[in-house]
Amino acid sequence: MKYEAVIGLEVHVQIRTKSKMFCSCPNQYGAEPNTLICPVCMGYPGTLPVPNKEAIYKTVRAGLLTECEIARFSKFDRKSYFYPDLAKNYQISQYDLPFCSNGAIHLSGKGFSGEMLPEKTIGITRIHLEEDPAKLTHYAHQSGADYNRSGVPLMEIVSEPDMRSADEAYAYLTRLKEIMQYGDISDCDMEKGQMRCDVNISLRPVGQKEFGTKAEIKNLNSFSAAHKAIEYEFWRQSNLLDNGGKVHQETRGWNDEAGETYLMRSKEQAHDYRYFPDPDLMPVTFTEEEIEAIRADLPELPAAMRERLVAEYGLTEYDAQILTSERNIAKYFETAAKTAINKKILANWIISELLRELGNAKQDISESNVSPENLAELVNLIEKKTINGKIAKEVFADMFVTCKNPEAIVKEKGLVQVADSSAILPFVEQAIANNPAQVEQYHNGNEKLIQYFVGQVMKLSKGKANPQMVIELLKEKL
Ligand code: ADP
Ligand code: ZN
Ligand code: MG
Repeated sequence: MKYEAVIGLEVHVQIRTKSKMFCSCPNQYGAEPNTLICPVCMGYPGTLPVPNKEAIYKTVRAGLLTECEIARFSKFDRKSYFYPDLAKNYQISQYDLPFCSNGAIHLSGKGFSGEMLPEKTIGITRIHLEEDPAKLTHYAHQSGADYNRSGVPLMEIVSEPDMRSADEAYAYLTRLKEIMQYGDISDCDMEKGQMRCDVNISLRPVGQKEFGTKAEIKNLNSFSAAHKAIEYEFWRQSNLLDNGGKVHQETRGWNDEAGETYLMRSKEQAHDYRYFPDPDLMPVTFTEEEIEAIRADLPELPAAMRERLVAEYGLTEYDAQILTSERNIAKYFETAAKTAINKKILANWIISELLRELGNAKQDISESNVSPENLAELVNLIEKKTINGKIAKEVFADMFVTCKNPEAIVKEKGLVQVADSSAILPFVEQAIANNPAQVEQYHNGNEKLIQYFVGQVMKLSKGKANPQMVIELLKEKL
């Protein structure tokens, strides 16, 4: 390959808070347009913004979770621009003194196409806090503005130009999303616009140190769109360079249907935002103790959790990877693990049964009818040999629809495993008596037929006989 891609990402993440960034309107998605507004977020003259402490706290958390330095002194600035998505004609943002800077995110685990990625660290340049503008929707001859989104706390997370491929960018976004979810900072639901990504990409000949001229691709609303846009830009820019052309510094959009980027504006049309400190807002200061208190309250991150699940519960890397792929799955496992005797079998049940059924039913694990406590109990019933694995699946299917606890189902349906040899013996004797031909073949050396007899006994006992005991008794009686 002649060219190498250089990629830096600017990611916007909405912070989950009760109220908006500078007013007391609810921070809530999906309401009737322009119902969650007030004079502050509508930019009426003479109103005063009041900063949301929860949003600032969560921004600092995000910074600490990405190994950033936290500014002891920080301020809000006005970014001036004229556009209907902001009624004030300026956005409150942060310019030269963001809350967080010089951080890092470590890539590891599975990449875009499922292969394991080599360890690599991507630098975080800065994380600043600002207010989201209104959401504009464009129709054929008119546009609509929904100011419910105006004033929602929004972080901008800017990476260093450290990524070299679409796969690395995809992995970076995946890790970033995990961190935001585990840190209780944002749900990062991309369909609701809670996480949005701009891609900066340039090419340079392999071996060259200097960066080339970059293009910025705006507002990619899924990780796979970001991945595709990078691959498309790599192709577009290589073509330009191969044909003696130059890459122009420009802002481009992404057309998902066509699978290509298109020119939005060139550098000549760049804005001058006239940043200046917002005179309505006091600078924000932190003491060492305050920052340490936030640090002491940090949750465990997925990478650390994966290692712990392997060490503490003896799970495989693969199982740990799946169980930590979403915060709610990890929480479910850990709750169930408190009472489950065999953690490995518990992990198997979550991964192979529960997640599959939830997937079919398009349900999130947090709203599953099968509570973690009940799944642990089911696993314990198998472990204690009250029921066997086959019956357990039947019980599970029932639990999945009825919310009932497994013991109740087992009792109600009379599914308790028979592990008493005097109760199993009649079935064994009957199976032998019913199948004289197979008995003779068995005696003539066809020992595999024991499985056939096990099947017969299970049928006669309606699946309730303990299989281990059945085998022992058959060997004795045959
Ligand atoms: P701008 O002045 O256009 O806003 P910045 O220096 O602020 O550019 O960087 C914006 C983003 O672009 C960052 O994520 C940064 O890592 C990335 N970036 C900067 N230069 C390049 C480059 N030559 N190629 C690719 N990405 C770059
Ligand atoms: Zn408001
Ligand atoms: Mg910039």
